[in-house]
Amino acid sequence: MGHIKKGELTQEEKELLEVIGKGTVREAGTLLSSKNVHVNCLDENGMTPLMHAAYKGKLEMCKLLLRHGADVNCHQHVHGYTALMFAALSGNKDITWAMLEAGAETDVVNSVGRTASQMAAFVGQYDCVAIINNFFPRERLDYYTKPQGLDKEPKLPPKLAGPLHKIITTTNLHPVKIVMLVSENPLLADAAALGKCYKVMDLICEKCMKQRDMNEVLAMKMHYISCIFQKCITFLKEGENKLDALIKSLLKGRASDGFPVYQEKIIRESIRKFPYCEATLLQQLVRSIAPVEIGSDPTAFSVLTQAITGQVGFVDVEFCTTCGEKGASKRCSVCKMVIYCDQICQKTHWFAHKKMCKSLKDVYEKQQTEAAKQKRQEEANANSNHVNEDEPEAEVGISHEDPTPGESVEREEEASKEAELGSAQDAPAGPQLSEE
Ligand SMILES: [Zn+2]
Ligand SMILES: [Zn+2]
Repeated sequence: MGHIKKGELTQEEKELLEVIGKGTVREAGTLLSSKNVHVNCLDENGMTPLMHAAYKGKLEMCKLLLRHGADVNCHQHVHGYTALMFAALSGNKDITWAMLEAGAETDVVNSVGRTASQMAAFVGQYDCVAIINNFFPRERLDYYTKPQGLDKEPKLPPKLAGPLHKIITTTNLHPVKIVMLVSENPLLADAAALGKCYKVMDLICEKCMKQRDMNEVLAMKMHYISCIFQKCITFLKEGENKLDALIKSLLKGRASDGFPVYQEKIIRESIRKFPYCEATLLQQLVRSIAPVEIGSDPTAFSVLTQAITGQVGFVDVEFCTTCGEKGASKRCSVCKMVIYCDQICQKTHWFAHKKMCKSLKDVYEKQQTEAAKQKRQEEANANSNHVNEDEPEAEVGISHEDPTPGESVEREEEASKEAELGSAQDAPAGPQLSEE
């Protein structure tokens, strides 16, 4: 292949860029097989077809281009943007993931020194920030499934690599979620297997801290998961079904306000036990958590999540009360104050929630009355002095940095579905759970 020059596109290459925006994958495929099309051709801004597809949120186009040998790390863009940066800016999680799987480097910076993850955070695409910051290539884990040096056996049995990788790449670090993921998999829910896993996590943690381009975020995450695994082992050694007991301990609330004290303490303890005390991230976390009284905000979970996933605040998003999963939409039909992923999470939490449900219901009703009162007041005010003053609209904008102004990023609108669960009292597992 010859030297590729910016803006010197053949007719077919121009057509390809058109088709990526408006055409079908089949049309793109036909053009890509033409000898006049170079998959890594550059437009006048130094954008490759892959960058266009990523920015426009076209997952299938991205996959097609990658299959045709598109260079995921091409760095010819006028502002130093990569395909991963475009994917992250578009807010498309699947494309971001596809770029990472194709080997996109995460530490490359644009012309103003920002990484893809920082750029995504800058425009509020926190899901993509989380995906980038939590990506861990499977090959790096597979390394431990082969005996190294004088070892006769690998540190990690190959069959554990898949289930462990799933936990490592999770962006939900809720301890209940991690224990759920462990107990879901019979291969993992075993003290000996978890013992091997946590030792490998500790090795990865050490590597992250000692490599040249140190990664404190990943190191902290590995260490934290290792700590949760060690808790699982302690409980598993006590007998059958003990992971359920661990989940219950993590959810059990204190009498005064239902705050899960054990959960808070476990997370704080895990952070404090991070073995590299000079790490900036550790110092930051300790500074944020130490002055907070147990039961007040922010919780250790939210501080840790923010540090590891880059998520700022938890505004407008509903998190499952049980497992911390994002996008939970099923409310307790009695108090309407707690929200869950599904009935399983509701049932798991019922033993703790039933003690609080009634008083939360009172809180909810009080809030509703207050809100109604305020609304009536506002309406009355509006009627009495009717001046049509339009509030100035807040300017939303990414930016002077935006390389292709005028092009809108296509996003699928997520229909927010609010469904209600049946009455909590009817939950079959609720009353079945034994009282403590
Ligand atoms: Zn849940
Ligand atoms: Zn309730």
